[in-house]
Amino acid sequence: MSNKQMKMNYPQRTIHLDFHTMPGVKDVGMDFNGREFAKTLREAHVDSINVFAKCNLGFAYYPTRVGIPHPGLQCDLLGEMVRACHNEGILVAAYFNAGLDHENALRHRDWCVLPEDGTIYRDDKLNPFFRRMCLNTAYGDYLLAMTEEVLKLYPIDGLFFDCFNPLVPCYGIECRKLMDDNSSRDSAFAVLNRVNLEFAQKVMELASDKKLLYFNCIPFRDQAPYCRHFEIECLPQGEWGYDNFPANVRYTRNLGRYTIGQTGRFQGGWGDFGGIRTAESLRFDCYHAISNAVTCGVGDHMHPRGKLDREVYQLIGSIFADLKTLEPWTAEARAVTEIAVLIPQDAMGYPITNWEEVNHPVAAAVRMLSELKYQVNVIDWDMDFSAYKVLIMPDRVFVPDKHRGKLEEYIASGGGVISSGYSGLSEDKSDFALPDEWGIAYEGQEKFNISFFEVKPDFAENIPRTQISIYDPGISAAVKAGTEIAACLWEPYFNKHWDGYHGYYYVPPKQATNRPVLTRKGNVFHCVFPIFKSYYEHAYVVYRSMIDNCIKKMLPKPLIKAKNLPSFARITVTEQDKRTMIHILAYVPELRGKKQIIEEPVTLTNVEIALRADGTCFKNVYTAPNMEKIIYSVSDGYVTLSIPEIRGYSLIVLENSTPCPK
Ligand SMILES: [Zn+2]
Repeated sequence: MSNKQMKMNYPQRTIHLDFHTMPGVKDVGMDFNGREFAKTLREAHVDSINVFAKCNLGFAYYPTRVGIPHPGLQCDLLGEMVRACHNEGILVAAYFNAGLDHENALRHRDWCVLPEDGTIYRDDKLNPFFRRMCLNTAYGDYLLAMTEEVLKLYPIDGLFFDCFNPLVPCYGIECRKLMDDNSSRDSAFAVLNRVNLEFAQKVMELASDKKLLYFNCIPFRDQAPYCRHFEIECLPQGEWGYDNFPANVRYTRNLGRYTIGQTGRFQGGWGDFGGIRTAESLRFDCYHAISNAVTCGVGDHMHPRGKLDREVYQLIGSIFADLKTLEPWTAEARAVTEIAVLIPQDAMGYPITNWEEVNHPVAAAVRMLSELKYQVNVIDWDMDFSAYKVLIMPDRVFVPDKHRGKLEEYIASGGGVISSGYSGLSEDKSDFALPDEWGIAYEGQEKFNISFFEVKPDFAENIPRTQISIYDPGISAAVKAGTEIAACLWEPYFNKHWDGYHGYYYVPPKQATNRPVLTRKGNVFHCVFPIFKSYYEHAYVVYRSMIDNCIKKMLPKPLIKAKNLPSFARITVTEQDKRTMIHILAYVPELRGKKQIIEEPVTLTNVEIALRADGTCFKNVYTAPNMEKIIYSVSDGYVTLSIPEIRGYSLIVLENSTPCPK
């Protein structure tokens, strides 16, 4: 790859090379050979890599005058890695751990975060986060000085700062002085955010000419003014699971930055030296990234002696080779979507300690709509609503006063809304923010801790016409004139409770009420219970059918229709100039005991997929990269494709023909 190409193009196949090395290791870099290192990467089709300047132990891997070199370091590992990679045309970003630095924590206890309870060292000392660094101390200056040193010494292409602390506010004297008088929780988090962002800004000023710059763990929206790119860290077999990336990528890709979906090769999480995933599970993550219009990165951890593991790079290389053949159709592609899941205002910033409450409903909405083959983005209140035909407000999306008008306008101009639980309530939670549009009145929390619903015939597709359980109570609502009840509440004989004699566990439905569970007023649907959280917890397919039946009323002709394609299969649509791509993924992460893994791809046969043409004509339809023609027909505004077989992943390309032939 020429230098000119490197300047123009963002990397497509990235390695994040962990190198946290304990002080007892005396032979750091002993077997390192720059040429062999870079050759291994090149042969694995790697085009960019994050390598270590400073690890989370706080050790530097280059001859530093500012920092603390690893006591066992045998060579200028960073310098040799940069030189060797550049010789092979591989971009290099230098890694600094910002939030952790255990050597400096030992030497300067006053550089550590002082949590509210005064306990600098947390209980689990085998969790690397048991103590954290405060950037609002001399540590911040120290880290900037190291950054400057590395930028002066080496012609790196970027910087990766890790482990910013978004969760544990610091009550040390320097941070306390920046808080309000009561040092309230909100002001403590605001200070933490401000300190992180001020540091990011200083780094940006030092590295303004670099192509790659990312601050891991600072919320994406907040760091957007300072970073150059995003990396979505998600090791699905680690703590993240398989529902994190789909929601995260659908949000992050809307923020206008080049984005890497960063997975890992480990059977477990980071630091799992001997853990190598099955090829198909790693392959799934990579296909998952490109089918959502971002590039792919794989995390590894190099042995301290400095040799890359041959098996690991054969595995990664076999997958990256396949990704490379797809790049004419995946590089700089954009996602095509028509439904948006709106995230709560507090999901965007601090504090994000109520992770499950905020994120599970969003993840569940994305899962549900993906199973139904709808094309979905995840957006926040500051993004454009008008690009979407339907807006989903899952469970607890309150309407901020300043955005009330925006939502009102969206609905007035024909946009559809499906909200659930507490969503749609005003900021002060007194009533719905748009009571006329919602057509119901808020009556407080639901008083039954178990209840049931029955749908009306018009909403009954794929739903049994009997009483369906509501496991998680939401709100109670009263219907106003002109609002349709699409599903009504059945009350139980009694709440689940203990009366001193019996635990009331067996609670059947007693009778129908005139209270609503699902309402419709024009294009606004509301489900009174937190149906998305409940789908996350119970995977009750009936809930998905209920949401689908609402969407069908507003979007009778969706972008994608599929026949003979199971719910686990995923379809996404991307586009480049003059081309539309359909990505199909057929994998099932299976729960084996406690761990969810993928061992084989699934083979699907005789699949039929229809793409709404929206006035575009197509002249050539084929699979990539092998250019096999796909038989298709055009009718009723759809291009219908017949696909004889899909094994794991399939990329189908439709070349536009403009203007349409007469
Ligand atoms: Zn502090």
